[in-house]
Amino acid sequence: MGAPTANNKKKKLRYADPATFLPHFAWKKSPRGKAVFAEGVTLDEAAKKTGTPVYLYSQAAIHDAFRELDHGLAGIPHTLCFAIKSNGNRALLQMLAAMGGGFDAVSGGEIELLRRAGVPGQRIVFSGVGKSREEIREALRYPASGKNGRPGILLFNVESEAEMDVLLAEAACVVRHPSDAPAVSIRVNPDVQAGGHPHISTGHHQHKFGMDLAAARRLYLAHRDSRHIRWEGISAHIGSQVLSLAPFRKALQRMAAFVRDLRGEGIFLRYLDFGGGLGVRYTDQKPPSRADYAHMVREIVRPLGVHLLLEPGRSIVAQAGVLLTRVLYVKENRGKTFVIVYAAMNDLMRPALYGAVHAITPVTRAKGAASATLRRVDIVGPVCETGDCFLHDWPLPPVQSGDVLAIWCAGAYGMSLASNYNMRLRAPELLVSGKRAKLIRRRETYNDLFRADCNLG
Ligand SMILES: *Cc1c(COP(=O)(O)O)cnc(C)c1O
Repeated sequence: MGAPTANNKKKKLRYADPATFLPHFAWKKSPRGKAVFAEGVTLDEAAKKTGTPVYLYSQAAIHDAFRELDHGLAGIPHTLCFAIKSNGNRALLQMLAAMGGGFDAVSGGEIELLRRAGVPGQRIVFSGVGKSREEIREALRYPASGKNGRPGILLFNVESEAEMDVLLAEAACVVRHPSDAPAVSIRVNPDVQAGGHPHISTGHHQHKFGMDLAAARRLYLAHRDSRHIRWEGISAHIGSQVLSLAPFRKALQRMAAFVRDLRGEGIFLRYLDFGGGLGVRYTDQKPPSRADYAHMVREIVRPLGVHLLLEPGRSIVAQAGVLLTRVLYVKENRGKTFVIVYAAMNDLMRPALYGAVHAITPVTRAKGAASATLRRVDIVGPVCETGDCFLHDWPLPPVQSGDVLAIWCAGAYGMSLASNYNMRLRAPELLVSGKRAKLIRRRETYNDLFRADCNLG
């Protein structure tokens, strides 16, 4: 056995139960004791009905997060361009589009997804440090509105001089009149240190993202009078899971000064795209609220008189989603207890990729069950990698085969990073609204898995 139960009884749970702090999730009375609800749906029943693993999102949680940012920016012209890479479920994108959202795409695949979801080009910004010529070409032809209208996405965020050359060459092929020239911005690197983990910090001068201000200035000036592109914006994205306002403020002030500097050169930018990156509470983090972040941004941007674009991903969807899994087996090995669950690193890669901690709890509590008998266990998936471990020494009440566990705050960079590693089928996704749970992506089948394979000879 691990550390004796007697000790653990005295130790507090290291982290608060997410059902106690996440909006729209809560423990409530159920016929057999207590159960975790997402809005009006119990996680246990949803999991048993759909099978596990399954991602489940609360529509109200996504809605409220989006509105909180949106309201915080009231009074200045703005568009929230949801970062698709954080969660690319088509139904979720349609829901955000219906709320007035735009989108930040970082690949041709994401642009194609938007096309299929019916999103007009005027709601799309295209970012990415390595856009291919084909991706640029496709994006240049994306209709601004309607299906066959004039082409035009909201903004191309260019990240290098070399990319600029390709964009100019491709634009020259499609632009017949200067008023058709694509709207372009430069992604600058404001050189601030920010981001929750070395792999998701992007705005420091040693990172691959963006251009430093001096190089960006030269590029703006070099193409000031271009007939094939129009300078319409400036953009930045300083990192992800940023937990304080200070680096945001510093970066934004640098950008504001730069926008004014360009005005002196006769370049008047319409858009300031400040990227995403606002952190969220997974366990015990204390990020600024969406409202405080929005107010800070608003106060710096307002006097500039530009249209603000933000590209939030995590701060909109992370807390709105859980990954539900069943327990397969519990086993003891050299004094350690392993809870083997059916979800794995291919379903949720963040623990293996970033060492991210996602709290895990049961989703039901039987009547009269002593809630204090926690013991420390390792919660692991079935994939053949030692890294396929969700949590080490995590306090969990006794569980058995078939029990459903919730892996919390998995709405962002969960399903979007999922793979078929070990030939595992990717999980389905459910969207809860009130008492209803709607399937918004079905579980993959073995046919899906082998569809692209070719036989030898
Ligand atoms: C990843 C990314 C975002 C979203 O970041 P979050 O931390 O999820 O808000 C926004 N913009 C760009 C360019 C990105 O690469």
